Amino acid sequence: MSSHFFDGSSPKRYDVTLEVWPEGISFETERGALNWRYEDLTRLWYYRPGQHLALTHRKHQDSRLVIEEADAISSIRMHAPNLLNRGRERLRSVRIAAALAGGILVLVAAIYFLVPPIADRMARAMPWSFEEKDAPELVQLERFIGTPCTAARPNQVLQDMTGRLLAAAHFPHPITVSVTDRKTANAFTFPGGRIVLLRGLIDKARTPNEIAAVIAHEIGHVVNRDHTERWIRNNVLSAATTMLFGFNPTGSVGESLFQSGLALSFSREDERDADAFAIDLLNRLDLDPSGGAAFFERLSRSGGLGGILPGYLSTHPESDGRADYFREHGTGAKQALSPADWLILKQICIKTGQG
Ligand SMILES: [Zn+2]
Repeated sequence: MSSHFFDGSSPKRYDVTLEVWPEGISFETERGALNWRYEDLTRLWYYRPGQHLALTHRKHQDSRLVIEEADAISSIRMHAPNLLNRGRERLRSVRIAAALAGGILVLVAAIYFLVPPIADRMARAMPWSFEEKDAPELVQLERFIGTPCTAARPNQVLQDMTGRLLAAAHFPHPITVSVTDRKTANAFTFPGGRIVLLRGLIDKARTPNEIAAVIAHEIGHVVNRDHTERWIRNNVLSAATTMLFGFNPTGSVGESLFQSGLALSFSREDERDADAFAIDLLNRLDLDPSGGAAFFERLSRSGGLGGILPGYLSTHPESDGRADYFREHGTGAKQALSPADWLILKQICIKTGQG
């Protein structure tokens, strides 16, 4: 058993005799004496007791010193324990990192799965004024979508129909429904109970109950406090993300509400809940659910092909079976408007309409 040295520039193997010092290792080669200080040395691979120790020098990385003498290795271990243990330390830190990553993963999973139901309950307990305080900014946003349709008689018809739905909803705060002159078929609910239907929705509806079903669905979002819920969820998630990763990728709540198009869409869970609320409301008023069913049927048929209602689809994620859900759970038989009132409602944007 001896030690040998490869200088890195030739394949020659030099047998060397080592001297181990508290500061480093000295050995003679044909080219002269070398003094390797421990602080400049790196171990080449994981050291196991009973095997050789292979070292290289930081400044001569092609060179190799392979030490086979057990007593030399134990002296080196005594003077420079890190040189031999670094691998174990690294292994330990890998284990710690893995445990930490696992912990973070569990925490993230907990946050993502536990926060939504908690946020749902918390949202309903938050004061209503919390949603109303952004009203001025939201009115600006509504104006940006389009001009309000103000035709008097059609608006009266709309308010009467909405009033019947709201009376059955028993929500203690005011909810408003208005129509904006835009040809896209869509509907939005803004914080503070403001429901905005786009003209395209009314243009494309074949029965008044399609509109009633959409309004009932949007009332569901208001009553379920889905805006507040999302606000809580976003905040808890971004606080958790900031805590874990030290940065906040979601921005402020204001940003997430006003700047992102996604701000007006809710989760599938929220959509299902709003559907459940809607069908219950239609049943209470004995309204025929087939309007809602037909609406969602056309919605799912329109797919991503730029079909009948692509706008609505983009803010209300499609879910299979929505039409069936309305048909199966609906018990009513009436239309929400008389044929005459339905024709009047269809004229709601006529004065400001762009054709
Ligand atoms: Zn919705």
